[in-house]
Amino acid sequence: GTTIGILGGGQLGRMLVLAGTNLGYRFVTLDPAPDSPCGQVSQQIRAAYDDEHAARKLAGRCEVITYEFENVDAGVAALLEQKSSVPQGSGLLYTTQHRLREKRAIEAAGVPVAPYREISSATDMVQAVAELGVPCVLKTAVGGYDGKGQAVIRQPEEATVAYEQLAASGTELVLEQFIRFRCEISVIVARSTNGEAKAFPPAENIHVNNILHTSIVPARVPDSVQEEARRLALAVAESMGAVGLLAVEMFVAEDGQLYVNELAPRPHNSGHYTMEGCATSQFEQHIRAICGLPLGSTKLLTPVVMVNVLGEHLEDVVRRFAQPDAEAERLDVVPKLHLYGKNEAKPGRKMGHINLLCQDAEQALEWIEQTNIWGDK
Ligand code: ATP
Ligand code: MG
Ligand code: MG
Repeated sequence: GTTIGILGGGQLGRMLVLAGTNLGYRFVTLDPAPDSPCGQVSQQIRAAYDDEHAARKLAGRCEVITYEFENVDAGVAALLEQKSSVPQGSGLLYTTQHRLREKRAIEAAGVPVAPYREISSATDMVQAVAELGVPCVLKTAVGGYDGKGQAVIRQPEEATVAYEQLAASGTELVLEQFIRFRCEISVIVARSTNGEAKAFPPAENIHVNNILHTSIVPARVPDSVQEEARRLALAVAESMGAVGLLAVEMFVAEDGQLYVNELAPRPHNSGHYTMEGCATSQFEQHIRAICGLPLGSTKLLTPVVMVNVLGEHLEDVVRRFAQPDAEAERLDVVPKLHLYGKNEAKPGRKMGHINLLCQDAEQALEWIEQTNIWGDK
């Protein structure tokens, strides 16, 4: 059978391994951690992600290589493409590693992004804040996640301080107009090596402290907005020639207009609902896409709410799942727990998630409320 290599051994890799193993594939993962979530379910090469010797070893053992994060070292990506097959290609990584390149690629697909400016100096910054208006948000072009590497500017006077703070990181900066959104949604698209493409139903995403907390499906926006969101996400994937999964985060503005916020060329936290919610999970779909199998159905089987289990929630969650859950029955929700096999339950660390299958999202949200996993919202 075919062996698939994964750069990165976190939970996204683990869920790829679990889905792909069911399809008959074998896996080798590359990760420096002795107790990575993937280590329990696949063979593992223990080395740093930018270790070219280890990358060569991985390439030697696998017919197909993929990754579970976008900040893959360019040298390693080139080496893997040369020594093995990386169906997603290094171009997709190159584009999505950098917010400016990413925005240009989205615009090239004819898809709207929030008005933005490239910022290379304090003078640029003052001028751009005047042009875009406040509030606006300054972001490092490279390496940000969970809202790290960002500063919101609410008053023009804050421009210089924000610039100096983020310029210290040494990467390029981009200033975006702040979109007063009705909600945030995401669409996960899969595009296969033979060009077939399918979009999953949009998820409505709620963040707490800049970390994704809950995804609600179907998103609570009109059908026409959902259809438009899928159309835009497919247009971006098509235009970029993406292969594998592409997660497309969007803002739904007050007037219903959609703006793409950012992309991720991999399984996405907001797509975990597909594991029980859809006919095919995002993980199975990614494996299908990179291996050239026909894509699976993205049909939604039931309304579903996904909630992340962070380190600070773990104890309450484990206790709740160890007992009969009369509330779940009363609310007519079916909670499905997915833990990632991480040892240390640090606050803010993603330890697992729960997919709540339901008739009505409100009841799933009530179950979440009661289980004490709403953090300090
Ligand atoms: P992720 O963990 O999703 O990769 P990130 O650090 O890359 O996060 P973004 O997704 O760009 O950051 O921004 C984080 C959150 O900040 C968004 O989900 C949104 O809530 C808010 N935000 C970012 N940019 C804007 C904007 N231009 N207008 C309004 N809100 C914004
Ligand atoms: Mg991001
Ligand atoms: Mg984001």
